[in-house]
Amino acid sequence: MKLVDSHCHLDDPKFDGDREETIARARTAGVATMMAIGTGQGPPDLEAGLRLAGQHPFIYATVGVHPHDAAKAMPDTWERLAALAGDPKVLAIGEIGLDYHYDFSPREVQRSAFSRQLEIAAGAAKPIVIHTREAWADTLAILREGWRGGGIMHCFTGDEAQAAEALKIGFHLSFGGVLTFPKADAVRRAAAMTPPDRLLVETDCPYLAPAPHRGKRNEPAFVVETVRRLAEVRGQSPDEVAEQTTENFHRLCLPSGALNR
Ligand SMILES: [Zn+2]
Ligand SMILES: [Zn+2]
Repeated sequence: MKLVDSHCHLDDPKFDGDREETIARARTAGVATMMAIGTGQGPPDLEAGLRLAGQHPFIYATVGVHPHDAAKAMPDTWERLAALAGDPKVLAIGEIGLDYHYDFSPREVQRSAFSRQLEIAAGAAKPIVIHTREAWADTLAILREGWRGGGIMHCFTGDEAQAAEALKIGFHLSFGGVLTFPKADAVRRAAAMTPPDRLLVETDCPYLAPAPHRGKRNEPAFVVETVRRLAEVRGQSPDEVAEQTTENFHRLCLPSGALNR
């Protein structure tokens, strides 16, 4: 089984003690490719993902300002981000979007940072990775208005109706550990109705570990558990889900290059 973890925070301090071992365990488990989300601790550092991508051929990166950190953006942040967006190891802009649950940055500032980064992604002709929490209507409105490219709804935890809306604007749905949680029936129904060519899997590690690791630090190797559950929910084999999600990642994020295995 060859897998892609399409969303991991490998730069997180929780991996400081065993980052290389964690990466090695992922490879042993079949995780051939990892996309290191580059939002890190927020501006001024924009290279949290790229630093890791520079150390391993099979790790790729995103760059972006997380909605939590929108208020930390400085006058030069967008210019620097636009320059980094052109790096060949940067496969997407993200995670960007809106988080009205925590409201760590004022909503106006979040919306303006989001729109600004859609322009940067369009300029770089790269897809986007969306983080949205308790902000579905605004997120969708901004995307409908200002985005014509590809994208990923990361850690999709919506229901069937929201899945249908995201699919309609051309998005991929990326499922993570939540899919394995006992109460997540609505998410599983959404996963069951997602067309095979729009599915992705992720860990969002170190957060949201899937069962049976729930409550522990998450790591890319655990994406295998999500693939197993996704396969059950969809009536497919884990190998089929692994192959399909790898192909989807390749088509969306690496349309012109060979996936480095
Ligand atoms: Zn997120
Ligand atoms: Zn994340």
